[in-house]
Amino acid sequence: MALVKDAISFNGVGQTFATESGPLTALDGVDLTIAQHQFVAVLGPSGCGKSTLLRLTAGLMAATSGTVSVHGLPVTAPRDDVGIVFQQATLLPWATVADNVTFPARHKRGRVDDKDRARAAEVIAAVGLSGFEKRLPSELSGGMQQRVGIARALFLNPDILLMDEPFSALDALTRDAMGYELLKLWQASPKTVMFITHSIPEAVLLADRVVVMSARPGRIIADLEVPLGRPRDEASLRAPEVQDFAAHLRELLIAKEPVL
Ligand code: ADP
Ligand code: MG
Repeated sequence: MALVKDAISFNGVGQTFATESGPLTALDGVDLTIAQHQFVAVLGPSGCGKSTLLRLTAGLMAATSGTVSVHGLPVTAPRDDVGIVFQQATLLPWATVADNVTFPARHKRGRVDDKDRARAAEVIAAVGLSGFEKRLPSELSGGMQQRVGIARALFLNPDILLMDEPFSALDALTRDAMGYELLKLWQASPKTVMFITHSIPEAVLLADRVVVMSARPGRIIADLEVPLGRPRDEASLRAPEVQDFAAHLRELLIAKEPVL
């Protein structure tokens, strides 16, 4: 069998929801291929179908037309090799950091063993939260809660990490710091990342490629390589070609904002 190099592929994907006011087309004719271990940012106006794109990839729902494949096979259900991080950490409020992180094991096998606890310690260390294992979510800052959410997504060592505006509820400084931490994690343990964001600087800092979507029905209007090597820092973002690239993305987005 040929080696499947694409981690994620969308072929002619459409998504229509039945709503009280009739059918609503969220996505239309989406073709997109993401190579293994590529970091792709998806930018687009609110309501253009970004979260829908992510939920289809995660197997949380089925596309109404076209095919979504992960590692060459159509997605039919949630899978262990896909981790998800949402805008809100969505932690269990009564469970400790360690218990939140091992939740996927409890959910899958109904119990947590020593190997799971060792794995949890590993991912908790990777997100910089060693020493906080026994804390409750309410004892943590927003940034720390989001780190727990990332640790939980990494727990089963997924090859694919789907992130839906994961840092947008954080203050600006924490948000920048989390971006750099994510890059370090990704470089230490390469993964295919689909990262949804509203922020052009965030997309440019993090991604290999930026996919830009139109307002609803969401279609891909641009798919561009970020003109920046790695590793990256504040200074690399100030390079003139990077500034020009960010300005180009801004034009694409502004042109496609719905006019009310
Ligand atoms: P984004 O993440 O880009 O803001 P979404 O993917 O969440 O956009 O939603 C795209 C469009 O589909 C929106 O108009 C939203 O209201 C609609 N939508 C999303 N999920 C559902 C659903 N389960 N039922 C009906 N409409 C939905
Ligand atoms: Mg969304």
